[in-house]
Amino acid sequence: MSTKYTNHFNTKKTPQNQSVPGKDQVRNSAGGFTFQIDKFQRLNRFLILGSEGGTYYVGENKLTRDNANSVVECIQEDGLRAVQTIVDVSLAGRAPKNDPAIFALALACTFGNNETKMAAYNAITSVCRIGTHLFQFVDSVKDLRGWSRGLRNGVSKFYTTKPVDKLALQLVKYRQRGGWTHRDVLRLAHVTPANLEQNRLLAWTAGKADPEVTIHALVEGFEKIQGLDSTDVKGAVSLINEYNLPREAVPTGFLKQKAVWEAMLPRMPITAMIRNLGKMTSAGVLNTNLDSTVKHVVETITDSEILKKGRMHPLVILNALRTYSSGAGFRGNLSWTPVPAVVDALDDAFYMAFGSVEPTGKNFLLGVDCSGSMDWKIDNSALTCRDVAAAMAMVAIRTEKYQHNMGFSSSGGYGFARRTQTLDGIADLGLSSKMRLDTVIQRMQQFRWGGTDCALPMIYAKAHNLPIDTFVVYTDNETWAGAIHPFQALKDYRQSSGRDAKLIVVGMTGTPFSIADPSDPGMLDIVGFDTAVPEVMNQFVRGNV
Ligand code: CA
Repeated sequence: MSTKYTNHFNTKKTPQNQSVPGKDQVRNSAGGFTFQIDKFQRLNRFLILGSEGGTYYVGENKLTRDNANSVVECIQEDGLRAVQTIVDVSLAGRAPKNDPAIFALALACTFGNNETKMAAYNAITSVCRIGTHLFQFVDSVKDLRGWSRGLRNGVSKFYTTKPVDKLALQLVKYRQRGGWTHRDVLRLAHVTPANLEQNRLLAWTAGKADPEVTIHALVEGFEKIQGLDSTDVKGAVSLINEYNLPREAVPTGFLKQKAVWEAMLPRMPITAMIRNLGKMTSAGVLNTNLDSTVKHVVETITDSEILKKGRMHPLVILNALRTYSSGAGFRGNLSWTPVPAVVDALDDAFYMAFGSVEPTGKNFLLGVDCSGSMDWKIDNSALTCRDVAAAMAMVAIRTEKYQHNMGFSSSGGYGFARRTQTLDGIADLGLSSKMRLDTVIQRMQQFRWGGTDCALPMIYAKAHNLPIDTFVVYTDNETWAGAIHPFQALKDYRQSSGRDAKLIVVGMTGTPFSIADPSDPGMLDIVGFDTAVPEVMNQFVRGNV
């Protein structure tokens, strides 16, 4: 009997637990073979997705160390490009959190050559825009290296390049975070004020203010409200109005009072507003759709200019929507009855924060990975990877008219618990453009999990003769359970349909893996949660990338 060697060495159909002959593949954390993204792509993924909380397969410690090593490789290969990437992602607000950018910048200050270090020092004020960021940066630097003149100059600029009113606001708002105060930073960085007003403010911060001199109106208001009796709500309200005091300047004892929140609301920045919707509803400030306070909140959070200026990230809005519409705080025991107009406004704001793109009019198959690993809770949020993947799919569903959306795990898996179980491991999600995101998330939570086979959307489209121009797969790239690799299934689909279909892989975790073959120009790997996703997808589908 002759042996059929291609049973074991086949470039067109290779089980996912084996690498494809002739392809440079690596084993992912689930044991399947995938491609590895290059180090600068990985830098982007880390800056946007971070590594907090790890993933379903990898602990936070290992994921962070692997990412940090990869960032250091970028810094050593092309330090100026690495610093520019960090600044671009941070300034454009493309990531839900600024923490990875701050850490990566501290790495550039440590591992760069002289030229890179200079660029990194100069970038401190671009990446560290508020006191909290600066404290995080200084905290990282402390664990990585010592102080030098260049580093001191870079940190000093946080204080010396700000107009006096902005500096006063920073000093009053962010007095301390994570064990750091401005006084500590001023001492370490040897900050020399640029003018008399700065000098007075910094002296006040260092506890060396001259009691005879007026420092700044904001400081005056801050000190007055600290001195109030905790029952003097009227006094607090009048000081807030007179001095435009931010929430951070108001002693916590007053923050249960409706009148105090009402006084702060008209000037409240959007980030604080979105973070405190539950608290304000619980305190009775937001009550019905007819309240003027509700109108103000709705108008603010659906103003595209304000969203953009405040760098409001869609994931932050999605998390607020999930928490607010549930009527209870993520931590603690606060509860409230959600105001419908506020829930609707958050739903609108989620899409607005991405910006809008012109529909391409092409046919899409959107496949959301619903396997067990996608059930992973995103650190510090009420959301799972699967919820976010579905919300990202909703962005495409609201843009493109001609799309079919499906959830998949692996063959032998299940679809919706209440629906017919499907042995295909892939089933319609039935998401429509009119569905609100809290409904979408509820729906995703009914989807049963199983193994992972990212080839299923392409296999399904071939089996059912679906005319697809672009497949979009939202996944953590930890695929392992299929008889054929996803990129092979795409080639198979192209051949049988005669359509030059493309594949876009939206990666939902900060790992180095991808199911997209980097040598195929019809496949694109992009980072989930990135506010640039709709634009990048659009350009790729149109053939402009
Ligand atoms: Ca999985």
